[in-house]
Amino acid sequence: MKGWLQRFMSGRYGFDRFSGFLSVCSLVLVVLGALFSPVLYWLGLILLGYCYFRILSRNIQKRYHENLKYLELEGKVTGWFATKKVRFQQRKQYHYYRCPHCGQQLRVPRGRGKISITCPKCGTQFIKKS
Ligand SMILES: [Zn+2]
Repeated sequence: MKGWLQRFMSGRYGFDRFSGFLSVCSLVLVVLGALFSPVLYWLGLILLGYCYFRILSRNIQKRYHENLKYLELEGKVTGWFATKKVRFQQRKQYHYYRCPHCGQQLRVPRGRGKISITCPKCGTQFIKKS
């Protein structure tokens, strides 16, 4: 049984992070679709079909690049949430401002009254309450 599967899967792409994401999404869509709308249900099944297509695909190069694109996007999303989390944790110690000239994010300590802030990127000075 195991030998049969190994022979069947040899030369095929297999499972990766993108496939994992697709299978979770398709499961969620199928469950939601069964409860609310047949459109979501069919969308979930199509996504599951695409997931299996990727796993069984022999075009390893193309699937690999799809996975890289997915990982890049996933990194951006998780990075955005990580930044929000850090800011929330530091909200009592620091205030965040944007430079009015170049838009650079600046972090200043709270509770110092009115302070002059110098942007380290472009050198613009502006006055804000910290
Ligand atoms: Zn600036």
